[in-house]
Amino acid sequence: MSRILFIIVLLVVGYLLLKSWQRKKTVNQDQPPRPITHGQHMVRCAKCGLYVPEEQAVGYEGKHFCSLEHAQLTRSGRGS
Ligand SMILES: [Zn+2]
Repeated sequence: MSRILFIIVLLVVGYLLLKSWQRKKTVNQDQPPRPITHGQHMVRCAKCGLYVPEEQAVGYEGKHFCSLEHAQLTRSGRGS
């Protein structure tokens, strides 16, 4: 009788291990190597290199900036 119990325990432990291993595997697949992921596309500031969501970024001359200030700094620094 105790042997049957032992086999049942082994099966349950094996099943739980397999389940947790599969969960780990899927979690790793769900995380692409990006700085921040909330379904948003991140762009890099051309001035300071900060990553900002594309909808919050300031676009200027095909480049992205974290703030209007950095876009203006780049524009004013062009002549020199
Ligand atoms: Zn910036």
